[in-house]
Amino acid sequence: MRNMSRKQLVLVGGGHAHVFVLEAFARRPMSGLEITLLTKEPMAPYSGMLPGFVAGHYRLDECLIDLKRLCDAAGVHLIEGAAVGIDREKRRVFLANGSPLPYDVLSLDVGITPDVDEIAGADAHALLVKPVSLFAPKWQALVARATASDGPRRIVAIGGGAAGVELILAARYRLTASQTWEQRRQDPFTYTLIAGTGILPGHPPRAQRLARAALTERGIDVVEHDTAVEIAPHHIRLRSGRQIASDAAIVSTKAKAPAWFADTGLARDAAGYLALRPTLQTLTDEDIFAAGDCATVIEHPRPKSGVFAVRQGPILARQLRGHLETRLLDPFVPQGAYLSLVSLGEKSAIASRGSFAAAGHWAWLWKDWIDRRFMNRFNR
Ligand SMILES: Cc1cc2nc3c(=O)[nH]c(=O)nc-3n(C[C@H](O)[C@H](O)[C@H](O)COP(=O)(O)OP(=O)(O)OC[C@H]3O[C@@H](n4cnc5c(N)ncnc54)[C@H](O)[C@@H]3O)c2cc1C
Repeated sequence: MRNMSRKQLVLVGGGHAHVFVLEAFARRPMSGLEITLLTKEPMAPYSGMLPGFVAGHYRLDECLIDLKRLCDAAGVHLIEGAAVGIDREKRRVFLANGSPLPYDVLSLDVGITPDVDEIAGADAHALLVKPVSLFAPKWQALVARATASDGPRRIVAIGGGAAGVELILAARYRLTASQTWEQRRQDPFTYTLIAGTGILPGHPPRAQRLARAALTERGIDVVEHDTAVEIAPHHIRLRSGRQIASDAAIVSTKAKAPAWFADTGLARDAAGYLALRPTLQTLTDEDIFAAGDCATVIEHPRPKSGVFAVRQGPILARQLRGHLETRLLDPFVPQGAYLSLVSLGEKSAIASRGSFAAAGHWAWLWKDWIDRRFMNRFNR
Protein backbone atom coordinates (compact mmCIF):
# COMPACT_ATOMS: atom_id res chain seq x y z
CA MET A 1 0.00 0.00 0.00
CA ARG A 2 1.36 3.39 -0.91
CA ASN A 3 1.06 6.32 1.48
CA MET A 4 -0.26 9.04 -0.83
CA SER A 5 0.41 11.82 1.69
CA ARG A 6 4.08 11.35 0.77
CA LYS A 7 5.73 12.48 -2.46
CA GLN A 8 5.70 9.72 -5.05
CA LEU A 9 8.73 8.99 -7.22
CA VAL A 10 7.89 6.38 -9.85
CA LEU A 11 10.69 4.65 -11.78
CA VAL A 12 9.59 2.83 -14.92
CA GLY A 13 11.97 0.11 -16.17
CA GLY A 14 14.80 -1.58 -14.30
CA GLY A 15 17.44 -0.49 -16.80
CA HIS A 16 21.09 0.26 -16.10
CA ALA A 17 20.55 3.87 -14.97
CA HIS A 18 17.71 3.03 -12.58
CA VAL A 19 19.75 0.48 -10.63
CA PHE A 20 22.04 3.37 -9.65
CA VAL A 21 18.98 5.37 -8.55
CA LEU A 22 17.82 2.46 -6.37
CA GLU A 23 21.30 2.16 -4.89
CA ALA A 24 21.58 5.92 -4.22
CA PHE A 25 18.23 6.07 -2.40
CA ALA A 26 19.06 2.89 -0.46
CA ARG A 27 22.28 4.50 0.76
CA ARG A 28 20.67 7.85 1.55
CA PRO A 29 16.87 7.64 1.94
CA MET A 30 14.83 10.83 1.65
CA SER A 31 12.21 11.51 4.28
CA GLY A 32 8.65 12.06 3.05
CA LEU A 33 9.38 10.21 -0.20
CA GLU A 34 7.94 6.94 -1.45
CA ILE A 35 9.51 5.20 -4.43
CA THR A 36 7.93 2.64 -6.73
CA LEU A 37 9.72 0.66 -9.44
CA LEU A 38 7.50 -0.62 -12.24
CA THR A 39 9.36 -3.23 -14.24
CA LYS A 40 8.54 -5.88 -16.82
CA GLU A 41 11.36 -8.08 -15.51
CA PRO A 42 12.13 -8.41 -11.75
CA MET A 43 15.46 -10.00 -12.76
CA ALA A 44 17.02 -7.33 -15.00
CA PRO A 45 19.43 -8.63 -17.63
CA TYR A 46 22.86 -7.07 -18.06
CA SER A 47 23.25 -7.52 -21.81
CA GLY A 48 27.00 -6.77 -21.76
CA MET A 49 27.40 -10.30 -20.34
CA LEU A 50 24.90 -11.94 -22.70
CA PRO A 51 27.52 -13.00 -25.29
CA GLY A 52 29.46 -14.60 -22.40
CA PHE A 53 26.31 -16.49 -21.40
CA VAL A 54 25.83 -17.65 -25.02
CA ALA A 55 29.49 -18.77 -25.14
CA GLY A 56 29.03 -20.67 -21.87
CA HIS A 57 31.43 -18.51 -19.79
CA TYR A 58 28.62 -17.32 -17.47
CA ARG A 59 25.51 -18.90 -16.00
CA LEU A 60 22.30 -16.98 -16.72
CA ASP A 61 21.87 -15.96 -13.05
CA GLU A 62 25.32 -14.30 -13.18
CA CYS A 63 23.98 -11.94 -15.88
CA LEU A 64 20.81 -10.88 -14.01
CA ILE A 65 20.36 -8.10 -11.46
CA ASP A 66 17.93 -9.04 -8.70
CA LEU A 67 15.73 -5.94 -8.65
CA LYS A 68 13.52 -7.32 -5.89
CA ARG A 69 16.48 -7.51 -3.50
CA LEU A 70 17.68 -4.08 -4.52
CA CYS A 71 14.17 -2.65 -3.97
CA ASP A 72 13.87 -4.35 -0.57
CA ALA A 73 17.20 -2.80 0.45
CA ALA A 74 16.03 0.63 -0.69
CA GLY A 75 12.51 0.34 0.79
CA VAL A 76 11.09 0.65 -2.72
CA HIS A 77 7.79 -0.91 -3.83
CA LEU A 78 8.30 -3.20 -6.81
CA ILE A 79 5.44 -3.69 -9.21
CA GLU A 80 5.88 -6.29 -11.93
CA GLY A 81 4.19 -5.00 -15.08
CA ALA A 82 4.60 -2.81 -18.13
CA ALA A 83 3.85 0.89 -18.50
CA VAL A 84 1.76 1.56 -21.60
CA GLY A 85 0.88 5.24 -21.23
CA ILE A 86 1.07 8.44 -19.21
CA ASP A 87 -1.69 10.90 -18.29
CA ARG A 88 0.50 13.93 -17.67
CA GLU A 89 -2.37 16.17 -16.55
CA LYS A 90 -3.44 13.81 -13.77
CA ARG A 91 0.15 12.60 -13.24
CA ARG A 92 -0.54 8.91 -13.65
CA VAL A 93 1.25 6.09 -15.42
CA PHE A 94 -0.97 3.37 -16.88
CA LEU A 95 -0.08 -0.29 -16.62
CA ALA A 96 -0.91 -2.83 -19.32
CA ASN A 97 -3.69 -4.20 -17.05
CA GLY A 98 -5.33 -0.74 -17.03
CA SER A 99 -4.47 0.25 -13.45
CA PRO A 100 -3.15 3.78 -12.87
CA LEU A 101 -0.02 4.56 -10.85
CA PRO A 102 0.07 8.14 -9.51
CA TYR A 103 3.37 10.02 -9.46
CA ASP A 104 4.78 13.41 -8.51
CA VAL A 105 8.07 12.79 -10.28
CA LEU A 106 8.49 10.15 -12.96
CA SER A 107 11.63 8.62 -14.46
CA LEU A 108 11.78 6.34 -17.52
CA ASP A 109 14.61 3.88 -18.26
CA VAL A 110 12.89 1.31 -20.46
CA GLY A 111 15.50 0.65 -23.15
CA ILE A 112 14.70 -0.04 -26.80
CA THR A 113 12.40 -2.37 -28.74
CA PRO A 114 13.81 -4.55 -31.56
CA ASP A 115 12.77 -3.16 -34.94
CA VAL A 116 12.02 -6.13 -37.18
CA ASP A 117 9.19 -4.47 -39.12
CA GLU A 118 11.19 -4.87 -42.35
CA ILE A 119 12.03 -8.58 -41.83
CA ALA A 120 9.05 -10.79 -42.68
CA GLY A 121 8.80 -13.89 -40.48
CA ALA A 122 11.14 -12.52 -37.80
CA ASP A 123 8.51 -12.63 -35.06
CA ALA A 124 7.76 -16.29 -35.76
CA HIS A 125 11.18 -17.71 -36.64
CA ALA A 126 13.96 -15.54 -35.20
CA LEU A 127 15.71 -15.51 -31.84
CA LEU A 128 15.36 -11.80 -31.01
CA VAL A 129 18.06 -10.72 -28.58
CA LYS A 130 15.72 -8.39 -26.68
CA PRO A 131 13.93 -8.92 -24.39
CA VAL A 132 16.70 -11.07 -22.92
CA SER A 133 14.18 -12.90 -20.70
CA LEU A 134 12.71 -14.45 -23.87
CA PHE A 135 16.02 -14.88 -25.71
CA ALA A 136 17.85 -16.83 -22.97
CA PRO A 137 15.47 -19.86 -22.81
CA LYS A 138 15.30 -19.97 -26.63
CA TRP A 139 19.10 -20.09 -26.82
CA GLN A 140 19.26 -22.83 -24.15
CA ALA A 141 16.68 -24.85 -26.12
CA LEU A 142 18.72 -24.38 -29.30
CA VAL A 143 21.89 -25.65 -27.60
CA ALA A 144 19.96 -28.70 -26.36
CA ARG A 145 18.52 -29.41 -29.84
CA ALA A 146 21.90 -28.90 -31.52
CA THR A 147 23.30 -32.05 -29.90
CA ALA A 148 20.71 -34.20 -31.77
CA SER A 149 21.72 -35.58 -35.18
CA ASP A 150 18.75 -33.78 -36.84
CA GLY A 151 19.24 -30.60 -34.77
CA PRO A 152 19.99 -27.15 -36.19
CA ARG A 153 23.37 -26.91 -37.92
CA ARG A 154 23.23 -23.68 -39.97
CA ILE A 155 23.46 -20.76 -37.56
CA VAL A 156 23.03 -17.19 -38.78
CA ALA A 157 23.28 -13.88 -36.92
CA ILE A 158 21.66 -10.80 -38.42
CA GLY A 159 23.17 -7.43 -37.49
CA GLY A 160 26.74 -6.20 -38.00
CA GLY A 161 26.98 -4.15 -34.79
CA ALA A 162 28.89 -5.25 -31.68
CA ALA A 163 26.02 -7.47 -30.50
CA GLY A 164 25.78 -9.38 -33.82
CA VAL A 165 29.55 -9.91 -34.05
CA GLU A 166 29.78 -11.03 -30.42
CA LEU A 167 26.78 -13.35 -30.67
CA ILE A 168 27.81 -15.27 -33.80
CA LEU A 169 31.32 -15.78 -32.35
CA ALA A 170 29.87 -16.82 -29.00
CA ALA A 171 27.40 -19.22 -30.65
CA ARG A 172 30.22 -20.81 -32.65
CA TYR A 173 32.38 -21.19 -29.55
CA ARG A 174 29.60 -22.83 -27.53
CA LEU A 175 28.28 -25.14 -30.25
CA THR A 176 31.76 -26.25 -31.32
CA ALA A 177 32.49 -27.14 -27.70
CA SER A 178 29.29 -29.23 -27.57
CA GLN A 179 30.47 -31.51 -30.43
CA THR A 180 33.04 -34.29 -30.32
CA TRP A 181 35.92 -34.13 -32.81
CA GLU A 182 34.25 -36.90 -34.88
CA GLN A 183 30.89 -35.02 -34.96
CA ARG A 184 32.68 -31.84 -36.00
CA ARG A 185 34.26 -33.71 -38.92
CA GLN A 186 31.11 -35.52 -40.07
CA ASP A 187 28.31 -33.12 -39.25
CA PRO A 188 29.76 -29.62 -38.92
CA PHE A 189 27.91 -26.43 -38.03
CA THR A 190 28.05 -23.51 -40.45
CA TYR A 191 27.96 -19.89 -39.34
CA THR A 192 27.02 -16.74 -41.25
CA LEU A 193 26.89 -13.11 -40.17
CA ILE A 194 24.61 -10.86 -42.24
CA ALA A 195 26.11 -7.50 -41.39
CA GLY A 196 23.89 -4.98 -43.20
CA THR A 197 25.92 -1.83 -43.84
CA GLY A 198 29.11 -3.46 -42.51
CA ILE A 199 31.01 -4.80 -39.50
CA LEU A 200 31.08 -2.68 -36.31
CA PRO A 201 29.76 0.61 -37.73
CA GLY A 202 30.87 3.56 -35.60
CA HIS A 203 34.02 1.74 -34.41
CA PRO A 204 37.51 2.75 -35.59
CA PRO A 205 38.69 1.13 -38.87
CA ARG A 206 41.32 -0.90 -36.99
CA ALA A 207 38.64 -2.45 -34.74
CA GLN A 208 36.59 -3.29 -37.85
CA ARG A 209 39.62 -4.97 -39.44
CA LEU A 210 40.33 -6.97 -36.28
CA ALA A 211 36.71 -8.14 -36.10
CA ARG A 212 36.66 -9.12 -39.79
CA ALA A 213 39.89 -11.08 -39.32
CA ALA A 214 38.51 -12.83 -36.20
CA LEU A 215 35.35 -13.86 -38.06
CA THR A 216 37.28 -15.14 -41.09
CA GLU A 217 39.81 -17.04 -38.97
CA ARG A 218 36.96 -18.84 -37.23
CA GLY A 219 35.29 -19.84 -40.51
CA ILE A 220 32.32 -17.50 -40.25
CA ASP A 221 30.90 -16.31 -43.60
CA VAL A 222 30.34 -12.58 -43.56
CA VAL A 223 27.78 -10.94 -45.84
CA GLU A 224 28.20 -7.17 -45.94
CA HIS A 225 26.19 -4.49 -47.76
CA ASP A 226 23.06 -6.62 -47.84
CA THR A 227 20.17 -6.96 -45.39
CA ALA A 228 17.72 -9.68 -44.42
CA VAL A 229 14.14 -9.15 -45.61
CA GLU A 230 12.61 -12.52 -44.74
CA ILE A 231 13.30 -15.27 -42.22
CA ALA A 232 11.79 -18.70 -42.97
CA PRO A 233 12.37 -21.89 -40.92
CA HIS A 234 15.27 -23.02 -43.16
CA HIS A 235 16.44 -20.00 -45.10
CA ILE A 236 16.88 -16.24 -44.97
CA ARG A 237 16.15 -14.08 -47.99
CA LEU A 238 18.26 -10.96 -48.53
CA ARG A 239 17.35 -7.68 -50.20
CA SER A 240 19.59 -8.59 -53.16
CA GLY A 241 17.47 -11.71 -53.72
CA ARG A 242 20.18 -14.06 -52.39
CA GLN A 243 19.09 -16.88 -50.07
CA ILE A 244 21.16 -18.08 -47.10
CA ALA A 245 20.50 -21.54 -45.63
CA SER A 246 19.62 -21.17 -41.97
CA ASP A 247 18.17 -23.35 -39.21
CA ALA A 248 18.49 -20.69 -36.50
CA ALA A 249 18.59 -16.90 -36.92
CA ILE A 250 19.75 -14.68 -34.06
CA VAL A 251 18.60 -11.11 -34.68
CA SER A 252 20.19 -8.00 -33.17
CA THR A 253 19.52 -5.44 -35.89
CA LYS A 254 17.92 -2.04 -35.66
CA ALA A 255 16.27 -0.78 -32.52
CA LYS A 256 13.31 1.53 -32.15
CA ALA A 257 11.76 3.53 -29.34
CA PRO A 258 8.85 1.97 -27.43
CA ALA A 259 5.68 2.59 -29.46
CA TRP A 260 3.71 3.92 -26.46
CA PHE A 261 5.95 7.02 -26.27
CA ALA A 262 4.05 8.40 -29.28
CA ASP A 263 0.87 8.97 -27.22
CA THR A 264 2.51 10.57 -24.18
CA GLY A 265 2.65 14.04 -25.77
CA LEU A 266 6.34 14.22 -24.77
CA ALA A 267 8.72 15.69 -27.36
CA ARG A 268 10.78 13.05 -29.17
CA ASP A 269 13.79 13.13 -31.48
CA ALA A 270 13.55 12.22 -35.17
CA ALA A 271 13.86 8.48 -34.36
CA GLY A 272 11.10 8.58 -31.72
CA TYR A 273 13.26 8.56 -28.56
CA LEU A 274 12.34 10.93 -25.72
CA ALA A 275 13.98 14.33 -26.16
CA LEU A 276 15.89 15.41 -23.04
CA ARG A 277 17.43 18.57 -21.63
CA PRO A 278 21.03 18.28 -20.37
CA THR A 279 19.52 17.87 -16.86
CA LEU A 280 17.94 14.54 -18.01
CA GLN A 281 14.45 16.13 -17.72
CA THR A 282 12.24 15.72 -20.76
CA LEU A 283 12.03 18.82 -22.96
CA THR A 284 8.26 18.91 -22.46
CA ASP A 285 7.76 18.16 -18.78
CA GLU A 286 10.27 18.96 -16.04
CA ASP A 287 8.69 16.39 -13.68
CA ILE A 288 9.48 13.57 -16.10
CA PHE A 289 13.08 12.38 -16.40
CA ALA A 290 14.56 9.68 -18.63
CA ALA A 291 17.87 7.93 -19.20
CA GLY A 292 19.53 5.15 -21.17
CA ASP A 293 18.70 3.96 -24.66
CA CYS A 294 15.07 5.20 -24.59
CA ALA A 295 16.07 8.87 -24.63
CA THR A 296 18.36 11.35 -26.37
CA VAL A 297 19.92 14.41 -24.77
CA ILE A 298 19.28 16.74 -27.69
CA GLU A 299 22.31 18.98 -27.07
CA HIS A 300 24.67 16.01 -26.56
CA PRO A 301 23.48 12.98 -28.55
CA ARG A 302 25.51 9.80 -27.96
CA PRO A 303 25.31 6.21 -29.31
CA LYS A 304 22.68 3.95 -27.75
CA SER A 305 24.95 1.87 -25.58
CA GLY A 306 25.14 0.47 -22.07
CA VAL A 307 28.20 2.62 -21.35
CA PHE A 308 26.12 5.79 -21.54
CA ALA A 309 23.15 4.33 -19.65
CA VAL A 310 25.55 3.36 -16.84
CA ARG A 311 27.24 6.77 -16.82
CA GLN A 312 23.86 8.49 -16.59
CA GLY A 313 22.84 6.41 -13.54
CA PRO A 314 24.54 8.37 -10.73
CA ILE A 315 23.72 11.67 -12.51
CA LEU A 316 20.05 10.72 -12.77
CA ALA A 317 19.99 9.83 -9.05
CA ARG A 318 21.46 13.25 -8.20
CA GLN A 319 19.05 15.10 -10.50
CA LEU A 320 15.99 13.30 -9.13
CA ARG A 321 17.01 14.08 -5.55
CA GLY A 322 17.73 17.70 -6.46
CA HIS A 323 14.39 18.10 -8.21
CA LEU A 324 12.48 16.51 -5.30
CA GLU A 325 14.26 18.96 -2.98
CA THR A 326 13.29 21.78 -5.42
CA ARG A 327 16.94 22.66 -6.08
CA LEU A 328 18.20 24.05 -9.38
CA LEU A 329 19.68 21.23 -11.47
CA ASP A 330 23.14 21.27 -13.05
CA PRO A 331 23.34 20.36 -16.74
CA PHE A 332 25.33 17.20 -17.53
CA VAL A 333 27.73 16.87 -20.48
CA PRO A 334 28.47 13.22 -21.31
CA GLN A 335 31.99 12.22 -22.34
CA GLY A 336 32.80 11.94 -26.08
CA ALA A 337 35.25 9.05 -26.50
CA TYR A 338 34.51 5.82 -24.66
CA LEU A 339 35.98 2.35 -24.22
CA SER A 340 34.35 -0.39 -26.26
CA LEU A 341 35.06 -4.08 -25.61
CA VAL A 342 33.82 -6.63 -28.14
CA SER A 343 34.21 -10.28 -27.10
CA LEU A 344 35.29 -12.88 -29.66
CA GLY A 345 33.68 -16.11 -28.46
CA GLU A 346 36.61 -17.62 -26.60
CA LYS A 347 38.14 -15.56 -23.79
CA SER A 348 39.51 -12.90 -26.10
CA ALA A 349 38.18 -9.44 -27.06
CA ILE A 350 38.80 -6.30 -29.12
CA ALA A 351 39.31 -3.13 -27.08
CA SER A 352 38.91 0.24 -28.79
CA ARG A 353 38.74 3.87 -27.82
CA GLY A 354 38.96 6.82 -30.24
CA SER A 355 41.13 5.57 -33.11
CA PHE A 356 42.97 2.99 -30.97
CA ALA A 357 42.10 -0.71 -31.20
CA ALA A 358 43.85 -3.92 -30.13
CA ALA A 359 42.77 -7.48 -29.38
CA GLY A 360 43.80 -10.22 -26.98
CA HIS A 361 43.02 -12.27 -23.90
CA TRP A 362 43.91 -9.23 -21.74
CA ALA A 363 40.98 -7.30 -23.30
CA TRP A 364 38.59 -10.10 -22.36
CA LEU A 365 39.92 -10.13 -18.79
CA TRP A 366 39.37 -6.36 -18.67
CA LYS A 367 35.78 -6.72 -19.92
CA ASP A 368 35.12 -9.58 -17.49
CA TRP A 369 36.45 -7.47 -14.60
CA ILE A 370 34.28 -4.45 -15.55
CA ASP A 371 31.15 -6.59 -16.02
CA ARG A 372 31.58 -8.59 -12.82
CA ARG A 373 32.33 -5.46 -10.82
CA PHE A 374 29.07 -3.92 -12.11
CA MET A 375 27.07 -7.04 -11.21
CA ASN A 376 28.69 -7.44 -7.77
CA ARG A 377 27.88 -3.85 -6.95
CA PHE A 378 24.13 -4.45 -7.34
CA ASN A 379 23.74 -8.11 -6.45
CA ARG A 380 25.76 -8.12 -3.27
C1 LIG B 1 24.06 -8.89 -26.99
C2 LIG B 1 24.27 -7.48 -26.54
C3 LIG B 1 25.51 -7.11 -26.02
C4 LIG B 1 25.73 -5.81 -25.61
N1 LIG B 1 26.96 -5.50 -25.12
C5 LIG B 1 27.21 -4.24 -24.72
C6 LIG B 1 28.49 -3.88 -24.19
O1 LIG B 1 29.40 -4.72 -24.09
N2 LIG B 1 28.69 -2.59 -23.83
C7 LIG B 1 27.72 -1.65 -23.95
O2 LIG B 1 27.95 -0.49 -23.62
N3 LIG B 1 26.50 -1.94 -24.43
C8 LIG B 1 26.21 -3.22 -24.81
N4 LIG B 1 24.98 -3.53 -25.30
C9 LIG B 1 23.94 -2.48 -25.34
C10 LIG B 1 23.31 -2.37 -23.96
O3 LIG B 1 22.79 -3.59 -23.59
C11 LIG B 1 22.19 -1.34 -23.93
O4 LIG B 1 22.66 -0.15 -24.48
C12 LIG B 1 21.73 -1.13 -22.49
O5 LIG B 1 21.11 -2.29 -22.01
C13 LIG B 1 20.78 0.04 -22.38
O6 LIG B 1 20.40 0.16 -21.03
P1 LIG B 1 19.02 0.81 -20.65
O7 LIG B 1 19.10 1.10 -19.19
O8 LIG B 1 18.69 1.93 -21.55
O9 LIG B 1 17.89 -0.29 -20.96
P2 LIG B 1 17.80 -1.84 -20.70
O10 LIG B 1 19.02 -2.40 -20.14
O11 LIG B 1 17.27 -2.42 -21.97
O12 LIG B 1 16.69 -1.96 -19.57
C14 LIG B 1 15.35 -1.56 -19.76
C15 LIG B 1 14.49 -2.33 -18.79
O13 LIG B 1 13.18 -1.77 -18.81
C16 LIG B 1 12.22 -2.81 -18.85
N5 LIG B 1 11.04 -2.28 -19.59
C17 LIG B 1 10.95 -2.09 -20.93
N6 LIG B 1 9.75 -1.56 -21.24
C18 LIG B 1 9.08 -1.42 -20.06
C19 LIG B 1 7.80 -0.93 -19.73
N7 LIG B 1 6.95 -0.46 -20.67
N8 LIG B 1 7.41 -0.94 -18.44
C20 LIG B 1 8.25 -1.41 -17.47
N9 LIG B 1 9.50 -1.89 -17.73
C21 LIG B 1 9.91 -1.88 -19.01
C22 LIG B 1 12.90 -3.93 -19.62
O14 LIG B 1 12.30 -5.16 -19.29
C23 LIG B 1 14.34 -3.80 -19.13
O15 LIG B 1 14.57 -4.59 -17.99
C24 LIG B 1 24.71 -4.83 -25.71
C25 LIG B 1 23.46 -5.20 -26.21
C26 LIG B 1 23.23 -6.51 -26.62
C27 LIG B 1 21.88 -6.88 -27.15
